[in-house]
Amino acid sequence: MAQLLLIEDDERVRTALLRSLRDLNHQVASAPDAMTGLRAAIDHRPDLVVLDLGLPDLDGAQMLRMLRGVSDVPVIVATARDDEEEIVRVLGSGADDYVVKPFTAKQLDARIQAVLRRVGGGSAASVDPTVSVGPLRIDPRGRSAYLDGRALELSPKEFDLLYYLAARAGEVVAKRQLLTDVWDLPFGGADKTVDVHLAWLRRKLGETAQAPRFLHTVRGVGVKIVDPAEGSAQ
Ligand code: CA
Repeated sequence: MAQLLLIEDDERVRTALLRSLRDLNHQVASAPDAMTGLRAAIDHRPDLVVLDLGLPDLDGAQMLRMLRGVSDVPVIVATARDDEEEIVRVLGSGADDYVVKPFTAKQLDARIQAVLRRVGGGSAASVDPTVSVGPLRIDPRGRSAYLDGRALELSPKEFDLLYYLAARAGEVVAKRQLLTDVWDLPFGGADKTVDVHLAWLRRKLGETAQAPRFLHTVRGVGVKIVDPAEGSAQ
């Protein structure tokens, strides 16, 4: 898991990227302008900065030089234009890589992983997307999940549901949110869809709704996954 700092003034782009990068299991802080971003880079000491070049308060290359003055954190710049001169200029000012808008979070994530591998400072472990909840280990790269070291046979949706909850362990997630994010149903769907998959998942985790270990339903609110060793107040 990498700690990222996203400096982007467009609120819609920032919110969407924050969410997608968190879904890709990064920890992300954000800033809406260059000066806030500089301060955050000093305070949060991120593993990598994603810097939008079109910020309201400072020119991109200027911002990069200031950032370089206080930190050698890897930087990926996001530029609106596929402008060779501009890109050469920011790479010359100390950027490690660039992405041209519009880009998807997955494309950005691939660049992030590549830059972190290249600089090596973050160590391989810091970009390991594996999530663990007690004896449960979920690796999104191979889409594999293990309970006590034993591989679980999960359907694609069961895997998606388990990974989504595990990435938010301890957090109650509404069924509506699961329908939106796991089933790609932005306008919701039947709660029953979630219930059925939860029941299947429970069976594979060796538990029941009456005697839950990992998956705890909070009536009228949603569901959360917890480490059985830490128990649950529910
Ligand atoms: Ca901008």
